[in-house]
Order: sequence, then C-alpha cells, then structure tokens
Amino acid sequence: MLQTETVHHLAYVNGDLPGFLNHLEESFIDRNEGAFIATVNPEIGYAAAKDKDYYQTVSSADFILPDGIGIVLTSRLINSRLKSRIAGYDVFINLLSLADRKKKRVFLYGAKQEVIQAVTDRLSTEYPGIELAGYSHGYVKDKGKVAKQIAAAKPDMVFVALGYPHQEKFIYEHKHLFPQAIAIGIGGSFDVFSGKVKRAPKMFIKLNLEWMYRLLTNPTRWKRMLNIPKYVLSVLKEERVQKQRHYYPEQIKEQSKIDL
Ligand code: UDP
Repeated sequence: MLQTETVHHLAYVNGDLPGFLNHLEESFIDRNEGAFIATVNPEIGYAAAKDKDYYQTVSSADFILPDGIGIVLTSRLINSRLKSRIAGYDVFINLLSLADRKKKRVFLYGAKQEVIQAVTDRLSTEYPGIELAGYSHGYVKDKGKVAKQIAAAKPDMVFVALGYPHQEKFIYEHKHLFPQAIAIGIGGSFDVFSGKVKRAPKMFIKLNLEWMYRLLTNPTRWKRMLNIPKYVLSVLKEERVQKQRHYYPEQIKEQSKIDL
C-alpha cells in the first residue's frame, strides 16, 4: 500500500517516483488492473476546491499525484509533509519505457494534430516494443466517440493530454469503458514529448523552479499562475478554521458558517 497525505481534502501519494512506479507495475499493470491517475498541481487543487463536481472527479482517482512543488511546499505549511513532487511528465516517460519493455498497448489522446503525429513518430522509432493501440488529437467535438474508439482498441494504458479539467472529466466519465487500462491525465506532456515545447532545463527542475521557467517562456500563463497563491491562501485559511475548531469547539459553532 502506498501512503497518502491529505491536503485540502485530496489524498496525495506520499512517496517518490520509483516507489509509485513499482507499486503501479506490481499491483496494477502486471495484473491487468486499471487505475485512474490524477496529476494535481496548485491550479488544479484550487479549481477542485472551487467546483464540487470537479472535486468529486479528482477525488475519485485511484492515485492523486502531487504534480507541482506548490502542493509539496503547501503541505509543509500545514504540517502534512508530502515527501516529494511526482511529475506527470516523468510518470508518462517512465510508463512509456515500461510499455516498451513489456510490449503493452498504448492509446494517446490529446493535443493538436501535428503534435500527436510527432508523438506517434517518436514512439515508433524510440519505443519499438510499444503497440500503438490508437490515437486521436484533442479537438474532436464528440468526446464520446473517442471514448468508444479507446474501448474498442483495448489498451493497457491511456494517456489523456487535454489539460484540466477536461482530461480528468473525460477519464472519470468513460473509464468504465476501458477498465483494464491505466488512465492518466498529463496536461501539456505531448507538446513537450514532441519537441514543440521545451521542458525546463535540469537545473530549474532540480531547484523546483520549473513553474518559473514555464512562466518566463510563456508569459501568457501569468493569469493562470495567480491561482497558485490563491490555492496556498485557501489551504491556510482552512487550516486556521480547523485549528480553531479543535481548540475552541464551542465558540467555533458560529464560525463554522464561514465560507471556505
Ligand atoms: N488541449 C486539447 N484539447 C483541448 C484543449 C487543450 O487537446 O480542447 C491540449 C493542448 O493542445 C495542450 C494540452 O491540452 O497540448 C494542455 O496543455 P497545458 O499546457 O494547458 O496543460 P498543463 O500541463 O498546464 O496542465
């Protein structure tokens, strides 16, 4: 069993990438058991805190990964101590290697047509053991049609790169059609894998500054990034109310009406 730590009502995997991959391989992939993996950064955490339906979608995942140093650092502010970030892109790359090694069937869904094409080209040259079960770009109007395509392809792994909240909602609504598959939402990972977007240099990743690199190289993201401080504040606000509940149970009755 993997340990979890809860931050803002979401139970995150509390471990590291190799430990998580081992668990996934032994307890799910090798047994042909499916699983829904949500990769959550502060933006997603904040969106889930604001939208009940989206919260239910994300919290239904079998594994919620802390895909952002913002989640890890925030957890430390409330003494919940998540050990490390587990980045969606790293899980993606490692699952591709595993699929290559074990000759697994992979379905890719998301990104623009030219991007997904470049991803499949790279797969066929660098991961010859992978059986490409199918793929679709991410701008098909009828998502149900793609879900049926996935079901018919019977993949072992489904990578959904539609950005949030679409990717988590898609998996949540359709996972019953591909119960044997590991299904994971991986945001802009196809853009990076295809070479269209560069991942941060190793030094940025090591210093936990990948978010800053993304902001510098794509300044239009600044608006989205405002959700990071909003997320931290909302976690701290909730923590303060919880503590008061603990120490002053009577007086807090009135305060419990506070809107979180
Ligand atoms: N995307 C898509 N369909 C849509 C909207 C977005 O396939 O309707 C893709 C988009 O092309 C990009 C990815 O979803 O490849 C989202 O990337 P983003 O950088 O926003 O995600 P993040 O990694 O920040 O979650």
